[in-house]
Amino acid sequence: MTNALYRKELFALPRDMIYLDGNSLGPLPKMVSGRVEQVLKDEWGSLLIKAWNDADWMSLPTRIGDKIAKLVGAPSGSIVMGETLSIKVFQALAAAVALRPGRNVILSDTGNFPSDLYIAEGLIELLGNKYQLKLVEPDDVALAIDQNVAVVMLTQVDYRTGRLHDLTELTHAAHRAGAVMLWDLAHSAGALPVQLQKSKAEFAVGCTYKYLNGGPGAPAFIYVRPDLIETANTVLKGWLGHEQPFSFDTDYRPAPSIEKMRVGTPSIIQLVALEAALEAWDGVDMEIVRKHSIELSELFIRQVESRCPQVALCSPRLAQNRGSQVSFRFEHGYATIRALIDQNVIGDFRAPDVMRFGITPMYLDSNDIVAAVDHLEQVLREKLWQRPEYQLRSAVT
Ligand SMILES: *Cc1c(COP(=O)(O)O)cnc(C)c1O
Repeated sequence: MTNALYRKELFALPRDMIYLDGNSLGPLPKMVSGRVEQVLKDEWGSLLIKAWNDADWMSLPTRIGDKIAKLVGAPSGSIVMGETLSIKVFQALAAAVALRPGRNVILSDTGNFPSDLYIAEGLIELLGNKYQLKLVEPDDVALAIDQNVAVVMLTQVDYRTGRLHDLTELTHAAHRAGAVMLWDLAHSAGALPVQLQKSKAEFAVGCTYKYLNGGPGAPAFIYVRPDLIETANTVLKGWLGHEQPFSFDTDYRPAPSIEKMRVGTPSIIQLVALEAALEAWDGVDMEIVRKHSIELSELFIRQVESRCPQVALCSPRLAQNRGSQVSFRFEHGYATIRALIDQNVIGDFRAPDVMRFGITPMYLDSNDIVAAVDHLEQVLREKLWQRPEYQLRSAVT
């Protein structure tokens, strides 16, 4: 049965593939190829440098930022695109700690994505080791926010388990203790409704190649709460964050807008691909996405639990505590995912034993979910995962 959102025809998915990995790399929206080809031919190929003005390349980062703003509950003018998520985490975290001099703790949780934590470590070193990165269990974050915490830095949806933090409640907890809130929305944007402006969080970042289908390495986004845009510090003082890049001043003066978070020349072809990919979201209500994501996730969990006793659910059982992925633990999870991939059912694996399945109602329906479980049941029942070719880890899991 299909759902009201279902628009699989917009995506270049191989026939017979069941793609449960849109949480890691979204599929190619069909409108992307034509648009990129047109930009290569008519803009780069024909206009060359004139395209910065004539094809308005310069405003792509803010134009796309405004489109993403609509999907994450942010006002226009509060989001800009650029670089990858790891870089945006660095920028946002540096700006966040600068807002709370005198406090020395950056608080995060053990479920956060390693890159976010590594970036925090690097920033702390750069700042002369005056800060401490404190990690607590995801459930203990609220209690750990005290008067020493400068910044609470969290990823809303846990990349391994899909556990969902309460964005509004934790932001309020951070603010009650006087801390700044930084959200990573990598697994939220395009997956579920986010009330960024309502939450009053100061900063947010996220990537666009997961649920937003912008393509491998698509530029990330950064949000700054509108009232902080003029005061927020920029550490990566690139020329395109300058108030007047083309005055070529020797002194840096930040743009008085979200554009201060721009760094250098944007990746135009990737931005164009992303802009075309976002057309799939025109008129899409994130509440409806959420409703169907939950229905499909519940179906998946019910089916796996009744037919595959070998595996154990490690995502929260309650839909309200889960993002848009479902994960199961299994000792032979890696080999099982490899065997499934051979059957054209694409999920992925995260160490040590987690099999992840992304639920994306725009191109998955209940038939896909049931068929995926048919394959999983067969792989487990017939122990197909035992085959030697599934044991050796590839570079990317
Ligand atoms: C996917 C993801 C990243 C990846 O960062 P890149 O710089 O795009 O490679 C970082 N943080 C989180 C929370 C992620 O989910």
